[in-house]
Amino acid sequence: MTTTSSPDRLAVIGAGQMGNGIAHVCAASGFDVTLIDVSADALAKAVATIEKNLDRQVKKGAIDAAAKAAALGRIRTATTLDAVAGATVVVEAATERKALKLEIFRELDRLADAGAILATNTSSIAITEIAAVTQRPEAVIGMHFMNPVPVMQLVEVIRGLATSDAVNARTVALAKALGKTPVEANDFPGFIANRILMPMINEACFAVMEGVGTPAAIDEVMKLGMNHPMGPLTLADFIGLDTCVAILEVLHEGLGDPKYRPCPLLKKYVAAGWLGRKTGRGFYAYPAS
Ligand code: NAD
Repeated sequence: MTTTSSPDRLAVIGAGQMGNGIAHVCAASGFDVTLIDVSADALAKAVATIEKNLDRQVKKGAIDAAAKAAALGRIRTATTLDAVAGATVVVEAATERKALKLEIFRELDRLADAGAILATNTSSIAITEIAAVTQRPEAVIGMHFMNPVPVMQLVEVIRGLATSDAVNARTVALAKALGKTPVEANDFPGFIANRILMPMINEACFAVMEGVGTPAAIDEVMKLGMNHPMGPLTLADFIGLDTCVAILEVLHEGLGDPKYRPCPLLKKYVAAGWLGRKTGRGFYAYPAS
């Protein structure tokens, strides 16, 4: 939330599975949001997904048709970063690649309004390093939503070394205004969520590679035996296997411990273009319906 009485205006960069969810939640919570992606196709798909997900909420009785129309009316789209002008909070949710994020933040530093919060939804890349490419590292913060964003409660809020108290407080308040529960973390590779989740997913991949069990057996053991709502390989497919490898590489490099090395089978699937649900094939097959 801003320190003045006017509500935040958001810009979300990247209209993939996370970006469309973040835009959905912002718009449904009453904020104007500009969704920006280099791909016009990704933007069209994102708006269609948001509409479908809002429809689902209407069917469930969670919102009415007028609220759906109002939420859609708060979303505009753009293909260039200069559309961040006027936003009080920018949430970057582009592909998990460090060079790309650093480039986007250099541009944001040039294009975003003075006083704007520059947040990143990165799963693992150091907030401090992203902040350091800007002239305003105090304004840069991690705002790590979970997938699917409209459903999941958690937002991990990660302070970089230079993030100001005021920016941290505004980000925590914004997460609450979006109906989420913020949990604060410090800036170490993988933060809290992926420091713990990714080694489990990676171990499940090793178990497949070594023939300990089939993907279905491994997932079933974790569901029935550990009460996880979904098995680790189903979850990996859901997150995106490319994103899993990218996060593991950050953990491996950042913590310097071989226990974080991405499983070769996981890397092989990514090399084959088996990225999980989003490409129709990962540990499981997802025929187009
Ligand atoms: P995705 O592959 O679904 O979408 C990424 C989008 O970024 C694509 O639409 C792509 O066109 C766009 N993009 C690429 N370069 C861009 C640029 N220069 N400017 C604007 N848009 C650009 O990826 P995703 O799963 O939505 O992940 C996005 C971010 O969220 C990543 O940092 C990821 O680590 C993080 N994240 C993902 C999950 C998950 O479960 N998938 C969960 C939490 C956080």
